[in-house]
Amino acid sequence: MSQLLTIALTKGRILEQTLPLLAAAGIVPAEDINKSRKLVFATNHSDVRLLVLRGSDVPTYVQFGAADIGVSGKDTLMENGADGLYEPLDLQIARCKLVTAALADAPVRKGRIKVATKYVNIAKRYYATQGRQIDVIKLYGAMELAPIMNLADEIVDIVDTGNTLRANGLVEREFIADISSRLIVNKASMKMKHVQIQAIIDAIAQVVGTETATG
Ligand code: AMP
Repeated sequence: MSQLLTIALTKGRILEQTLPLLAAAGIVPAEDINKSRKLVFATNHSDVRLLVLRGSDVPTYVQFGAADIGVSGKDTLMENGADGLYEPLDLQIARCKLVTAALADAPVRKGRIKVATKYVNIAKRYYATQGRQIDVIKLYGAMELAPIMNLADEIVDIVDTGNTLRANGLVEREFIADISSRLIVNKASMKMKHVQIQAIIDAIAQVVGTETATG
């Protein structure tokens, strides 16, 4: 007998890329998610439902077992930690990179600098590994504005095409990490609903063409 399985997804651009992967595992929403304001969606399987959340909330739902499975950006996992989670699969979607950036004409300053970012923990860890002292300024968006307005010397942000940096006169300085969306699984769910969850992991792994490794 199969148990109720809850999968947490992020609305928007990443959802468009996630739904075909779920479809490969035979899971299809019962209605068009983008045309609805609902947060919980039934699927073609009576024992599988989907939650549509803010990206940064997906790991929290999965960590506490409110969802069994989720799709989360590696940036969010690096920032918030991954206690209680397995990360069995790199979905290889929403690929981008995490970098430091500064105004193109700004000198590289020695000594303590101000860094604006929404990734406070990642920034603290990264600059510490470089032996550099920073004051972190937490922002929730439009990080590129901070150096322009002299709020910060550098930013830590995710970059895809680099167009946003360029449009604001910024350049990439240091590479921190490659980012992509990951399949995450609650550790207790992985034990208790192993057959169901492993089948989903295997089906999605076939489409993304990577090895599965739980851990
Ligand atoms: P860019 O293509 O470099 O101009 O990216 C513009 C903005 O889109 C970045 O500042 C990010 O905030 C956002 N972005 C780019 N790629 C991703 C991604 N894979 N996931 C989430 N946000 C992204």
